[in-house]
Amino acid sequence: MPKSELTKAIIDATREALNAEGPVPLHVPFLNGSEARCLGEAVESTFVSSVGPFVDRFEAELGSLTGARRVVATSSGTSALQLALRVAGVRRGDEVLVPSLTFVATANAVSYLGAFPHFVDVEETTLGIDPKALRRWLVFASEMTDEGLRNKTTGRMIRALVPMHTFGHPSRIESLCEVAREFSLVVVEDAAESLGSTYKEKHTGTFGLLGAVSFNGNKIVTTGGGGAILTDDDALADRAKHLSTTAKKAHSWEYIHDEIGYNFRMPNINAALGVAQLGQLPDFLSSKRALADKYRAAFDGIDAVSIVTEPTHSRSNYWLQTLRLKEGGAPYLDEILEGLNAAGFGARPVWRPLHTLEIYETASRAPLPVTEKLGRALINLPSSAGLA
Ligand SMILES: *Cc1c(COP(=O)(O)O)cnc(C)c1O
Repeated sequence: MPKSELTKAIIDATREALNAEGPVPLHVPFLNGSEARCLGEAVESTFVSSVGPFVDRFEAELGSLTGARRVVATSSGTSALQLALRVAGVRRGDEVLVPSLTFVATANAVSYLGAFPHFVDVEETTLGIDPKALRRWLVFASEMTDEGLRNKTTGRMIRALVPMHTFGHPSRIESLCEVAREFSLVVVEDAAESLGSTYKEKHTGTFGLLGAVSFNGNKIVTTGGGGAILTDDDALADRAKHLSTTAKKAHSWEYIHDEIGYNFRMPNINAALGVAQLGQLPDFLSSKRALADKYRAAFDGIDAVSIVTEPTHSRSNYWLQTLRLKEGGAPYLDEILEGLNAAGFGARPVWRPLHTLEIYETASRAPLPVTEKLGRALINLPSSAGLA
């Protein structure tokens, strides 16, 4: 298919799936539940800041939704991940294995701790870290010492593994946890994008020692800005909560801080929005699943592309719908992005692989052939709840 025809076919299929002319943005929040009522309640109560009943309710409801025994609500997904890595034992000078194909926050959370991201490759089917390639790389590049796993090249300790569930599609999390166990790595999941996604009916973010979720404005459920740590470990949850509130010891008036903590707590006003949003999650999930079906049907006749579908054993939240360009389509990535956006459809490429950013170009890394390929082959299509 000549390139302009492919682009035209993709625009037509997008229009057909959405049953709409542009403009249709990539993703906007859907606030038609009890948001206004909950926010009003928070305002009337005067509890708008970092303590309040909505924070407790939001944490409790997230716990029942995900099956995590403990939930600590935070100011962002990034702060949740940073704090989770910190309480998991990542220290200054350590390395942490993260995918290169992820949002920059995954690596930044590592850097904030004075640790170093070490990039590993993803697989084509799940878009998450490839467990086999990871194992092969660790056998080659690391050695077990008394202090833990050491990167033979840098001499630094490799402390943790951060699987990420791309666009809501669960990665091969059980196999990744097995590899982590074999190499004495702690697992902290970046489940920022996968609220509502399960692997073998267990919620993503609950397989590792800790998991981090995001409630930023573009995620499936939003608190305006916010995040949460999930864990089954009481001691880690208590420590995360303590560190998130400036490590201030409980006292009615004294200011005693027993560590250098953070101001990472989620304000009550944001949690009020979150409680209302969580109530709508089942509707969001079915709407996004229906939209995936519509995209799949609309793109069925175009050989050069496919719609990314949930992996086996998984139920995906279909947070962001994703068009995959096959070999024949990949050369036209830029033209297709331009065409879709010119037609009013908020299409975006996948993130620049992080190892190609100047800020991370000197980071340790495994061979990244699949990341390099997918970096030019994925396009997110309009995905808001309520579009189907
Ligand atoms: C959104 C996101 C984050 C960060 O969440 P914020 O709430 O925006 O700080 C981290 N990792 C991934 C993969 C994300 O998509």
